[in-house]
Amino acid sequence: MEIESEVSVLTPNPLLAALRIPGETFRLPSQGLFYDEGVLDESVKNGEVEVYPMTAIDEIIISTPDKLLSGKAISEIFARCIPQIKQTHKLLAKDVDFLMVCLRMVSFGQFMEVAYTHQCNDAKEHTYNVDLQAMIRAAKSIDPTTLSQEYVSVLSNGQRVHLKPMTYGDIIELYQDTMLSKTEEIDEKEAEKIVVNTISSVVSNVDGVYDRNFIKEWAIHLPLGMKKQIQKDINSVGDWGIEMKSQHTCQDCGEVMSLRISANPVNFFT
Ligand SMILES: [Zn+2]
Repeated sequence: MEIESEVSVLTPNPLLAALRIPGETFRLPSQGLFYDEGVLDESVKNGEVEVYPMTAIDEIIISTPDKLLSGKAISEIFARCIPQIKQTHKLLAKDVDFLMVCLRMVSFGQFMEVAYTHQCNDAKEHTYNVDLQAMIRAAKSIDPTTLSQEYVSVLSNGQRVHLKPMTYGDIIELYQDTMLSKTEEIDEKEAEKIVVNTISSVVSNVDGVYDRNFIKEWAIHLPLGMKKQIQKDINSVGDWGIEMKSQHTCQDCGEVMSLRISANPVNFFT
C-alpha cells in the first residue's frame, strides 16, 4: 500500500545532511566496455562508478524473497546506492558480483566475518575475517585489446559462434528456470529448455545470424561435442572479474585453505 504524503516539503531536512556519507569510487572490471547507451549514466568515465552505503530501507528490501528471486531487490538497491547504474539487468554478471562486494564494504566495512569449519580431524567452527578490500584490489579487468578475437568460438563444422559475457538478467532468468524445475520433476522438455537458454544467453550470433529463435533451435540440435567446445571457450575468455575467494590459515591444523564466499544477497548483506 502506498502512503501519500499530504504536504510537499521543500525545505531540505537539516538532519539528513549529517547522515550523508560520501561514496567511494570503483572501476568496473568490464571497464564499462560492452554497454549500450543508457545502461550506465552519461557521467561515467572509464567505467568508474560511485558506490554509497546501504540504508535501513535497503536492508529490508534485500530480505524480501520475491524481490530477490526476480532480481528486483538488487535493481532497487543499485538504483539508490549506485545511481550511475541505470539498468542493472543489462550489467554483466561479473560487474554485478564486483559491485556487490564494493557495496558490502562501503556499507559494513572492510572485513567480513565468515564462520567456517575445516575438514581436518577434530575441526571446530571458527570465525575468519575476509578482507573485502584486498578482494576488490585483486579483481582483474577485462583486456579490451583481445576482445574481438577471443569472443569467437569456431566449431568443427566451421560455424563461427560469437560469444558474449552473461548479463545479470541472464543469470536471473536461468536461476528462475532452475528454481521452477526444482519444485517439480524435471521432465525432458524442462531440461532441454535450461540447456537451450544457457547457450542462447552467451551466444551473440552464429555466422552473423542474430535471430534468438533461430539460435535457440540451433542450440537444441547442437551435438554434445560442439556444446563442450563452446563451454570450453566461454571458460577461457571468462578469466576476469572478482574472485570471491580468500586464503586463510585453519585455526585447528594450520593448513592454508581457500574460502569461497557466496554473493547470494541473503547471507551476503545480513
Ligand atoms: Zn584444519
